[in-house]
Amino acid sequence: MSTTANFHMSPDEFRRWGHAVVDWIADYQRHVEALPVLSQVQPGEIRAKLPAAPLEHGEAFDAILADIDRLVLPGITHWQSPNFFAYFPANNSGPSILGDLLASGLGVQGMLWATSPACTELETHVLDWLVDMLDLPAKFKSNGPGGGVIQDTASSAVLCAVLAARERATGFASNERGTDGRLTAYASTQAHSSIEKAVKVAGLGRQNLRLIPVDERFAMRADLLARQVADDRAAGLVPCFVGATVGTTSSNALDPVAAIGRFCRENSLWLHVDAAMSGTAALCPEFRFIHDGLELADSYAFNPHKWMFTNFDCDCFYVADRAALIKTLSVLPEYLRNQATESGAVIDYRDWHVQLGRRFRALKLWFVIRHYGVEGLRHHVRRHVELAQEFAGWVRASADFELAAPVPLNLVCFRHRAGDDFNRRLLERINQSGQLYLTHTVLNDRYTLRLCVGQTHTEARHVERAWQLIRQSAEADARS
Ligand code: PLP
Repeated sequence: MSTTANFHMSPDEFRRWGHAVVDWIADYQRHVEALPVLSQVQPGEIRAKLPAAPLEHGEAFDAILADIDRLVLPGITHWQSPNFFAYFPANNSGPSILGDLLASGLGVQGMLWATSPACTELETHVLDWLVDMLDLPAKFKSNGPGGGVIQDTASSAVLCAVLAARERATGFASNERGTDGRLTAYASTQAHSSIEKAVKVAGLGRQNLRLIPVDERFAMRADLLARQVADDRAAGLVPCFVGATVGTTSSNALDPVAAIGRFCRENSLWLHVDAAMSGTAALCPEFRFIHDGLELADSYAFNPHKWMFTNFDCDCFYVADRAALIKTLSVLPEYLRNQATESGAVIDYRDWHVQLGRRFRALKLWFVIRHYGVEGLRHHVRRHVELAQEFAGWVRASADFELAAPVPLNLVCFRHRAGDDFNRRLLERINQSGQLYLTHTVLNDRYTLRLCVGQTHTEARHVERAWQLIRQSAEADARS
């Protein structure tokens, strides 16, 4: 028991408990595969075990750490289990966790270049690296009028894009006077809900978001986008923003970015491309087709915190014209004035997102890229796609199951042929087993199971076992 539990943790105590925590994480990594993937607790169960009020006096750290096993672990859904196939992944890796730990240790608040030059310059540099690594358009690099910034999430990125689109469409007047209710925004019916939220938060009004129908591959119909924009213009409205998706959440559909981009160019619409998970695939040259037409986009975002082994949160947001973004978001109170900013020679990322303060997120990204190397990252991404494609092949060959959507990358949408109720029960049975975790969507009004391969440690044996378990569960249900 520590004798200084009521006081600051000394560096020596920190060293001791830091080692204990790292040991705990390493053990967790080793054993996570054996834990039930989906937390089995009932609502309120975790809170009920917590003391009603905090203790008046501090506790020894070993008691605190012991409660991770006792109180917290039962309430964890294990996103880092190789049997996690739900949603899109939020994978992590050793170098990323250590980078994050160092960022916490340094405790930097990087709102201005001057508040920690390394925090800004490493971020700019790593985001430029990623332009090359994913073969993104060079206009997103910081050496021209564009540039990249780390946001917490893809939701924050699209909010910034909608705000900049709003300002560009109104000659930066809505910043001053608000909107007059005539600005409209567009995304497909399959776009992520973060676009709807951004449109609401940016004050465009939910009713001014048009959801454009999709084709049989669940990709936006560029012709119907053009028609809707024309109708809105004819009605006196002011179209300003289009959100295209590379890898929709439901089915991994790829919107036709080139066709949408050409239309946006001709009509002065801000095009944001949301590649939250799937953008990572562009590490591999053979998957770069997903970004065809990206040179026509005004902004782009993908999340290393989904599929690039970088723990949450880490979204890379790029703009072709940083001046538009900065003009939209910049406010400069006296207390933030400083020489470096006045010189114009530095980037102050506080002007690139909604919040002022920012963590040193570039550190974990830098660690990940350096640890794996580009080739190492490619290897894992390729492997995930291969495993998903293999699973899709088994579904295709099965008499009982069918694919519900094309499988361009690492997400397989499929269903049992016995109908919605059967699939609903099947999913529940699978997830209650604790042996794997899948989630669902609805495609063409039919209940659909999703299996996404993207967890850091998922290997062939996990995917094979998943297929075995799914088939066994279906057979058990059919018998009962
Ligand atoms: N866009 C797409 C296509 C997504 O799938 C998701 C989340 O899964 C998001 C945006 C939102 O991601 P975030 O949690 O980073 O806001």
